[in-house]
Amino acid sequence: MTEISQLLARVDVLRPELIRVLSDLVRIPTLNTPPRGAEKMGQERLAAEFRKIGCEPDLYDIGQIRALHVHPLRHLMHDVEGRWNLAVRISGAGGGRSLILNGHMDTVPPSEFPWKRNPLQPAVEDGRLYGLGAYDMKASLTAMYLFARVLRESGARLRGDLILESVCDEEDAGVHGTIAQRLRGYHADAALALEPSALSIFNMHKGAYFPEVHLEEPAAGINLNKELIPQIPRMLGTFLMELDHLEKIRESGVKTPPEYQHQKKPTPVWICRIVSGLWGKSVPIVIASRVQIFVYLQTLPGEPLELVRNQFADWIAGLSRKHPDLFPKPPAYEFTLRQMDPSFVPSDHSLVTTLARAVETQTGARPKILGSPAPCDMFAFNNHFGIPCVWFGPDGGNAHAPDEYVELDSVVECVRCLIRFAGDWCGWA
Ligand SMILES: [Zn+2]
Repeated sequence: MTEISQLLARVDVLRPELIRVLSDLVRIPTLNTPPRGAEKMGQERLAAEFRKIGCEPDLYDIGQIRALHVHPLRHLMHDVEGRWNLAVRISGAGGGRSLILNGHMDTVPPSEFPWKRNPLQPAVEDGRLYGLGAYDMKASLTAMYLFARVLRESGARLRGDLILESVCDEEDAGVHGTIAQRLRGYHADAALALEPSALSIFNMHKGAYFPEVHLEEPAAGINLNKELIPQIPRMLGTFLMELDHLEKIRESGVKTPPEYQHQKKPTPVWICRIVSGLWGKSVPIVIASRVQIFVYLQTLPGEPLELVRNQFADWIAGLSRKHPDLFPKPPAYEFTLRQMDPSFVPSDHSLVTTLARAVETQTGARPKILGSPAPCDMFAFNNHFGIPCVWFGPDGGNAHAPDEYVELDSVVECVRCLIRFAGDWCGWA
């Protein structure tokens, strides 16, 4: 009979190890810089920790998996060779449901805005650990390692198999590491994506549709005999003004799930970047003749991508009808990022109810069950491999921004919740 209280007590004892292992991982840059990524050294570091506790990690280059190269989710803007995954299987005694804990080793590059701290030099201050990737999501990888360590050191055994995976290429919608794990034969009855969630349960996440729009007019050289009236600023201004209309189109006819009722705008249209022209001492003064606009539309679970695609195409065509002087033909657009589908697990699914009960037992408060605004690898499990997957992880802040940090207490609490949940889901032997 496994004594849960003894397992939970061991987590507290391992707190210095949380700081040590997480700090080691933060010190190793594991940047995802498409088309390449540098996950290997981080995976080797984590694999070494797993070996020390008697696990046999499966460390492999996902480029070796032939089926990945021709998979329908293959993203051609990302290389898969030289990208490394790490998997650890802790075999159960039999007779229980199996579980995957999924996390990613890659991080985004440090923000272009300055950090107050060195992003690769972990700093512990006021219960937080600062560093690049600390929150998204090396703390979660450390949490899964600590979970394995508690199991190994206590001799406790689950009935179902537990698969721990630290994948590559999650950022920038790569998804290749998570797909490779399935193609390598790692399947289970359920999965948790341990992305940070402040111990809330995200049973759904939005999708992402990323058109890159090009506004262009014939390049105009400086000609002193002719009056020049640049059109690009007016085209850009009109394009931005018309976005309100696109948001209204998106809002109409959308059924907002209860998990997103707390949001004022569940289907926003965001402009992430606008690029145009040249200006400086080393380049001649030119009149901007084109502008590139990076658009991010959030899509809701249950909303077919086809619908969003058609709404956007109609809106672009409408620009030309409404403003033929500025847009004699509809502006061109293309897709260089992967379009991400939304996904969900119903809130009454046993994966959600079992996890919610475990978290409530541990923390004393019923966890919020919400929809995440952003996507992650969860959709690959739910939509492509038939493995129900929800998102659950620690608390922190500043992901993809300067001075990223994770709250260390929440990582400890996350490990305790995982122990309780795995016991309920897989069963104790
Ligand atoms: Zn992440």
